[in-house]
Amino acid sequence: MANCVNCGKKIGMFNGCSDWTVYWGGQDQTMCQSCSDSFKSLLAKNEYSWRDERITREFILQNEEALHLQKTGLNFLLDYADYVQSVIPPDEVESKKREEEEKERLRKQMEEDRIRQQEVNRELAKILISSGFNFDGYRIVKYSGYISGDDAVQIPRSGVFDRGRNGQNLTEALVRIRRVALQELKQAAYDLGCNAVIGVDFDYLTLDPQTATITGGTLYEPYVICVTANGNAVVIEKIED
Ligand SMILES: [Zn+2]
Repeated sequence: MANCVNCGKKIGMFNGCSDWTVYWGGQDQTMCQSCSDSFKSLLAKNEYSWRDERITREFILQNEEALHLQKTGLNFLLDYADYVQSVIPPDEVESKKREEEEKERLRKQMEEDRIRQQEVNRELAKILISSGFNFDGYRIVKYSGYISGDDAVQIPRSGVFDRGRNGQNLTEALVRIRRVALQELKQAAYDLGCNAVIGVDFDYLTLDPQTATITGGTLYEPYVICVTANGNAVVIEKIED
């Protein structure tokens, strides 16, 4: 029969089974279930493993209150931190550290990309699009050439007119790929330093792919629909009056 090193509660077969025992100083040191549960959930919350090198004395002290530690429980976990630190091979600590640094670098990179993309999106949103060849109140000051943007989608054969949806799958897919194609068209204009696209229209291409099967039959693959948005990238200027 042992007592919980933190709360002093007796730990036995029937009153809270011994849940976490670490051998120290010539004897087993045991925490009762409820005391060890709070430590376990702290580790789980941080996604730490049992012998994570981030379990340090500082980590224990930072979480002392949340763990409701008594003096003996605190000493127990501080010893545990020392033990964890002592069993981690130095090169593992090094590689974990590098891994962390790499993760942090990627996170920063993603954040920067996100911000840059937001800026680009704001600029793209300002680009004017017309199926005609001029804009009221603007004059065209530069023609930068013919540009295009495209996208494609697969439509399952059984999904085109799916159960009374009257081709909704198809029209929804068309709306989606047209939007992407237009966005690409705007991107192409932006890359040329233009702020508008004139004479915009869409071209469509449908594919009906089939392949021969091993048994000599025909495998009908999903339809492919491609859309291309075309236009002329231009620079326009507001006409002052
Ligand atoms: Zn306890």
